Amino acid sequence: MKREQIVVLGAGIGGLLAAGAAAPYFDRVIVVEKDQLPDQPLAEPVPRKGVPQGPQVHAIIKRGENTITGIFPDFPDRMRAAGSATVIAGWNLQVHEGGGWHPRRDFGFSIFAQTRALMEQVIRGCLLDLANVTLKAGCRFTGLDLSDNGAVKAVRISGDDPGGGDIAADLVVDAMGRGSPMPKWLDDHGHGMVRRSRAGINIHYVTMLLRRPEAYRDSADAWVIRATAPAKVRGATLIPIEGGRWLLTLASRFGDLPPLDFPDCLEFARSVEGGVLYDLIKDTEVTTAPRRFMVPEALLAHFDEMDDLPAGLLPLGDVIGNFNPMLAQGMTIASLHAESLGHCLQQLGKPGGDLQSVSHDYISAAVAISETAWQAAVNADFAYPKTEGNRPPDLAEQQKFRRAVREIIETDADLHKAAIDVQQMLQPGSALARPDVLERVRELS
Ligand SMILES: Cc1cc2nc3c(=O)[nH]c(=O)nc-3n(C[C@H](O)[C@H](O)[C@H](O)COP(=O)(O)OP(=O)(O)OC[C@H]3O[C@@H](n4cnc5c(N)ncnc54)[C@H](O)[C@@H]3O)c2cc1C
Repeated sequence: MKREQIVVLGAGIGGLLAAGAAAPYFDRVIVVEKDQLPDQPLAEPVPRKGVPQGPQVHAIIKRGENTITGIFPDFPDRMRAAGSATVIAGWNLQVHEGGGWHPRRDFGFSIFAQTRALMEQVIRGCLLDLANVTLKAGCRFTGLDLSDNGAVKAVRISGDDPGGGDIAADLVVDAMGRGSPMPKWLDDHGHGMVRRSRAGINIHYVTMLLRRPEAYRDSADAWVIRATAPAKVRGATLIPIEGGRWLLTLASRFGDLPPLDFPDCLEFARSVEGGVLYDLIKDTEVTTAPRRFMVPEALLAHFDEMDDLPAGLLPLGDVIGNFNPMLAQGMTIASLHAESLGHCLQQLGKPGGDLQSVSHDYISAAVAISETAWQAAVNADFAYPKTEGNRPPDLAEQQKFRRAVREIIETDADLHKAAIDVQQMLQPGSALARPDVLERVRELS
């Protein structure tokens, strides 16, 4: 059974995917975005103000690609047509972790490598081809109108053409990202402040675009260098992207800021582990200047605990949780929220499937998705004594488990494949808990 109208706040990755997942269940889908957006696809998409993390590296892991493809089946074709690079997991994508390079093995699947702006443009194109979707760009969320029973009734927006005012809504998705004004609006209007779990991870990113040198013109090679915790804090990512360029990200923590001048970036590159980064980039040319972004905290908002959340208000994506971006999970989590929204909306019109129960089921599922990813990410961050937050009692065991897996994949291709699958969120972490790994964990005790 179709409902009249759903309003999605925010046309970032989560908002676009939520709108796509909800489109089959509503007569009209209205997406409200505060940024002005180009009318036509740009030959070279660029970051925008409403997504301040946008210039930084945004890799989409395989589970995310698969989930987006479930919502927009031609997503992979459009990514390739738009010029996204592809890299073969385990082969082109070379990972330095735990003090050494992973063995090079071809695991038979590839992942996309592109700027965030290109990927967002591709998904926006998929969405805007749907006949019942309208995008109101340049319009800002200012508040909700609630009915007498406390359910959402309309969204208030301000903006230029097509003007401010109210937009009626059966459901409202809050996909306004990590800076969403919704939690404050809820608190200001007597609904209480959502409880947030926090961990002080204090991560700094600097990203720039480089012209690929001649020797790498047609190469799909990519490098990910993860700092060996707790002794080292510096890491880096160098990936091929659209337009024959490389995207270079330098990352660090706890006040060790990656620099913004390229000569200083070269010195930083010389200092990261792996011994290859400096030589790869020393003769390149910067095409887009270094930009910095800081992630002081990993946050998880427990919307499922709120007693007085207006019925029909559905938080999604970074509004629920954000964490260490080095794991490249954020867009995938947003896609899983959108997928979950679509599943819950299938219940509409079935026995017990009213908007209230759909909202409740969705929020429980979405918070659980974020919580699992958040916990795993934060527990890895706790390898650094300076990370602030509540450490789990089995933290030392978890760290030994990671060490055991890292050791065994040197000689064991099956475990290596499983580790890649877990990192790409294609399998749960439990896929690594083999008897030989657990035995090695005991030996490390
Ligand atoms: C440094 C860094 C690197 C990252 N790297 C990766 C990565 O490699 N891989 C990955 O998967 N994830 C990565 N992420 C995470 C990723 O950016 C987010 O998880 C993802 O963008 C979440 O999507 P979202 O739709 O929730 O929010 P966003 O994509 O941030 O979108 C929010 C939207 O809401 C709009 N908006 C805000 N306020 C209003 C308002 N009042 N009215 C109307 N519209 C509004 C904004 O303009 C924006 O368009 C990274 C994050 C950071 C910080």
